[in-house]
Amino acid sequence: MKILIANLGSTSLKWRLFDFANGAEKLLHKGGFERVTDYPKAIEDCLAQLTEAGAIASASELAAVGFKTVIAKDVTGCVRLDERVLGAMEAYNGLAPAHNPPYITGIRLFAQRVPGVPLIGLFETAFYQFAPAAMMRYGVPETWHDLGIRRWGFHGASHKFIAERSAELLSRPDVAQRAANLYVDGGKAPVNGPPLRIISCHLGGSSSITGTLNGVAIGNSLGMSPQSGLPHNNRVGDLDAEALPYAVKSLGISIEEAQRQLSKEGGLKGLSGVSNDIRDIQEAATKGNAKAQLAIDVFISEARRWIGGYFLQLNGADALVFTAGIGENRGELRAAICANLDQLGIVLDPAKNAACRATEALISADNSRVRVLVIPTNEELVVARESKRFLESARN
Ligand code: AMP
Repeated sequence: MKILIANLGSTSLKWRLFDFANGAEKLLHKGGFERVTDYPKAIEDCLAQLTEAGAIASASELAAVGFKTVIAKDVTGCVRLDERVLGAMEAYNGLAPAHNPPYITGIRLFAQRVPGVPLIGLFETAFYQFAPAAMMRYGVPETWHDLGIRRWGFHGASHKFIAERSAELLSRPDVAQRAANLYVDGGKAPVNGPPLRIISCHLGGSSSITGTLNGVAIGNSLGMSPQSGLPHNNRVGDLDAEALPYAVKSLGISIEEAQRQLSKEGGLKGLSGVSNDIRDIQEAATKGNAKAQLAIDVFISEARRWIGGYFLQLNGADALVFTAGIGENRGELRAAICANLDQLGIVLDPAKNAACRATEALISADNSRVRVLVIPTNEELVVARESKRFLESARN
């Protein structure tokens, strides 16, 4: 069974093709295009690359095309991307303006190009369906809540991957299995041991932190929209609700312009005034740029705030996991986030931490009660696995 996972940006198309033949999970092909101006051509070129590489004989060999869809009104989980669901995504375009519109456009183009192939979406919000209500509510009147003004949580595919993989690495196949089957039984499967408490830090261009208990998320630092939580590359992160009307009035700008500034000129870019890329920011900080250093310090402080919150909610942690571009590659940021936490049982091994780049590794010291792990994420694999499960259950 060959499943293509398409990652759609406003000017990019990236893909991975998985083959699930004979119980294996094989990555057959991956590729992508940046600076796409002609999306139908990009899809055509993607399919041409797959056939030229011999990964598929023709597009009709695809069992499905899967998408890591972000958010839709009253829809979550793993679903067939029909016009009803696309309409529900459109209804929440305003919450995810950088993500939903390109996905909707791209999915419709795939529907035209490969009409016989099922298109399946795994929503990023799906992983938080089973989180306690108290962790997902804002203190708003019920009429607001009913409009969808609540915490949804995102990066679900990544945190689900970490929930499964960390449990495997910590020799808890029962929890790994529970996390794997989350969307089948809602995380109700029994576990055979003490509670497994994981704090999962997805730190990249977009960042979020999640706590999981026995493979099930208890919340996420991202709230109603991907604008919230930690500061992102150029998106603001958490902000007092009064700040927006105050800025609109004081700066004499429109709401739309304020939103643009918060999503394009905020976050690490806004704080540093240098770049939205942590590599450039760190380089500037090393050369003495105080604003760049402040951007890094805010990021570290916000990461610790959320880690601390989940540490308390979970009554401690068995493991703290770092993943995504920053989490996998930036040892100095991992060290700063974990500094002075020995009283909480978190102690890094400096040499192991410094040596770890984009590989699976245990980077805590032998005397650290909380194990600190680096696990490269694999969001596409999670979408492919759930797409496969969806196809199989649809057949039964
Ligand atoms: P992501 O959104 O997960 O791709 O992460 C993007 C962020 O991670 C950027 O701020 C990059 O500076 C950082 N990053 C990604 N890859 C690397 C790498 N190989 N070395 C250092 N930093 C990286």
